[in-house]
Amino acid sequence: MRVCGISTPNRISSADHAIRCRDVPRSVLNIVARLNEAGHEAYLVGGCVRDLLIGLRPKDFDVATSATPDEVKALFRNCRLVGRRFRLAHILLGRDFIEVATFRAGQESAGKKQAVAHSDSGRILSDNVYGSLEQDAFRRDFSVNALYFDVRDESIVDYVGAMADIEARQLRLIGDPDTRYREDPVRMLRAVRFAAKLGFSIEPHTEAPIRELSDHLEDIPPARLFDEVIKLLQSGHGVASLDGLWQHDLLRYLLPMTYGSLLTERGDHWRRMLEQALNNTDARLAQGKSTNPAFLYAVLLWPPLREWLIETGGAMPEDGAPPVMQIQEAANEIFDRQIHYTAIPKRFSQMIRDMWSLQHKLENYGGGRAFGLLANKRFRAAYDFLLLREEMGENTKERANFWTQIQELDDEQDQMDLASTQAHRGPRRRRRRR
Ligand code: ATP
Ligand code: MG
Repeated sequence: MRVCGISTPNRISSADHAIRCRDVPRSVLNIVARLNEAGHEAYLVGGCVRDLLIGLRPKDFDVATSATPDEVKALFRNCRLVGRRFRLAHILLGRDFIEVATFRAGQESAGKKQAVAHSDSGRILSDNVYGSLEQDAFRRDFSVNALYFDVRDESIVDYVGAMADIEARQLRLIGDPDTRYREDPVRMLRAVRFAAKLGFSIEPHTEAPIRELSDHLEDIPPARLFDEVIKLLQSGHGVASLDGLWQHDLLRYLLPMTYGSLLTERGDHWRRMLEQALNNTDARLAQGKSTNPAFLYAVLLWPPLREWLIETGGAMPEDGAPPVMQIQEAANEIFDRQIHYTAIPKRFSQMIRDMWSLQHKLENYGGGRAFGLLANKRFRAAYDFLLLREEMGENTKERANFWTQIQELDDEQDQMDLASTQAHRGPRRRRRRR
């Protein structure tokens, strides 16, 4: 609670909540304990506390401390300092690491105004100011992300009324929503993401400015937006996130061409395709299986690719996938436009091109050429994409069945025999005239 600028932390004792040290990996408890023993304040913070309170398994465990990064480094042999703008300590545990962040002051509480640089629109450009526990709580985005778990007595520190918001299952921005979105417009995407992930509502004052301020997302670097799209759509709650993006009219700032495709006369078809793919991805993640950003983007950009082909050459989705040259030309166009919004790393865009180009071959090759495709390193991803297209009723010449069967055969000769039953249906090469 904040009274006349002085806030009183709310200590929730272990009797009044369900988080226990046994819910936290021993290695993380040891890090916090060592910081405490060295005389520093240290807590578990953010997503892990929130997730444990609502019964979700935390993705990772973050630590916040009064120790400076150099002080943290001095205490841990396996510590590496990262980040140029804001120094963070990573404590390495095998292939994993625990992030230890020094308490930071947000813009309001920083006191030293000059330490927090803003753009004309109010966006924070730099905020390299260390602060107190209280300041650290207030600089965070949503109240439910600003809880601290004290491992010494299993109590929780709540400066921002987060426990009540957890109870009400709602996301509330700390401070004035308009200002907080201007400081960092990505918080609008984070609102949609956490609402989808947690099944929380967005509190009305937090929701209200989103429509008006959404165009501030145009100022965010495409590399950061690429990461946000992955977090939104490839973290196990993709269907709900897409729905939230649509409801809050935010999709146009991330994937404007995909957004445009959803508004065409084939919009319903494209929407079902995206939902089907995101459903599959959510199910894979729930089973602990891996997913690939290239597959996600191959699906997201397929509708605009097809729409572009319709506009320029009349090739309709029901005609099957166009040959490689046409696909490559369309892909150039689509990537050239998309990278201004989300920066797709080269390794992914190449993979997407390969998957798209293989569609025509999967639909048309027979005999030895079909057999040869099995060894292509993108075969599996392209096959999954073909299945999705077939599920959506695109004309894939009913080839998914054949590719499913051929993969089930162990013997190469059997695979060859099956491949030879498939006539080659691609465009024949014209004989050179003598
Ligand atoms: P997830 O489980 O999805 O990782 P998280 O809450 O841990 O959720 P992160 O993006 O990992 O989210 O951020 C860690 C913490 O840092 C958040 O809980 C929040 O307190 C703070 N934070 C992250 N991004 C912002 C932001 N843009 N503005 C203010 N605080 C932020
Ligand atoms: Mg996190």
